[in-house]
Amino acid sequence: MKAFGPVPSRRLGRSLGINSIPPKACTYSCVYCQVGRTSHLQVDRRLFYRPEEIVEEVAAKVEQTREAGDVIDYLSFVPDGEPTLDINLGRTIELLRPLGIRIAVITNGSLLWREDVREELGSADLVSIKLDAVSESIWRGIDRPHGSLSLETVMDGILGFARSFRGELMTETMLVQGCNDRDRDMEQVADFVALLAPKTAYLAIPIRPPAESGVRPPDEETVNRAFQIFSHRISHVEYLIGYEGDSFSGSGNPEQDLLGITAVHPMRAEAVEKFLGERGQDRTLLQRLLAEGILVETEYRGMRFFLRRLGAHQVRPEQEAAP
Ligand code: SF4
Repeated sequence: MKAFGPVPSRRLGRSLGINSIPPKACTYSCVYCQVGRTSHLQVDRRLFYRPEEIVEEVAAKVEQTREAGDVIDYLSFVPDGEPTLDINLGRTIELLRPLGIRIAVITNGSLLWREDVREELGSADLVSIKLDAVSESIWRGIDRPHGSLSLETVMDGILGFARSFRGELMTETMLVQGCNDRDRDMEQVADFVALLAPKTAYLAIPIRPPAESGVRPPDEETVNRAFQIFSHRISHVEYLIGYEGDSFSGSGNPEQDLLGITAVHPMRAEAVEKFLGERGQDRTLLQRLLAEGILVETEYRGMRFFLRRLGAHQVRPEQEAAP
């Protein structure tokens, strides 16, 4: 199956997924990969499926979806591996254009030092680049790249692409306990992400069974610190912690709305008070959510924040594949 969905995604709206790489060919073998360990660790681009074959399947899905009265916001390359390994990625994007739907590619960015990859990704409407580490030892530990890749070259490629890309750029950083969650590490990643000037920088945690069983998400306090560190440098930061919150469309139900907002970012205590006050609520709702363990309170630089307890009451995980 090369086309699936559409599935709801906070980043991409109603997204029709395109799986253009068979499991599991990738330039990385991330410890947290939800597809499992990489069986074909490679950096050479090659043919996987014929572009016409992919496009035919996508077009059929699009027609089926339209007939059902459903909408598609993005055709998204979210394969079981690294999409830029496909030597025909650019050609496939070109052939999909007549369908008149915006095209997104979720990539680990490791081949962006190649001019052909920069050019092909440049023809997409939205590109999301994964960036977990900017220090060689952490990068090798968490992303386990192909031996021929150099972090400096990869970062130069990503930066070069970000500076020339005219579409919507996003980044995604996966936080793994004990791997890349020290303040210093997060600050360095945030400094580099800031140079890329993404529309949104996402912070993710492993929420599905990872390739390596010892992989754990950081605790709430660390996730909050990461959010503050990134927000200090980047204008729009959100986290992807496994809840499909929607902070932009109020349901009119204070509990649902509060959970929706805290699914996307931590809330300052003052903001929560104001939010409740404006809806005619006292602290009872907040106290109940804390007592039930749905929200947790944490502190950063003397300020109090509320955020969702990680792993509690998982509602609807993002149904996108990694990177
Ligand atoms: S998470 Fe993405 S980049 Fe990492 S191994 Fe899996 S498919 Fe490759």
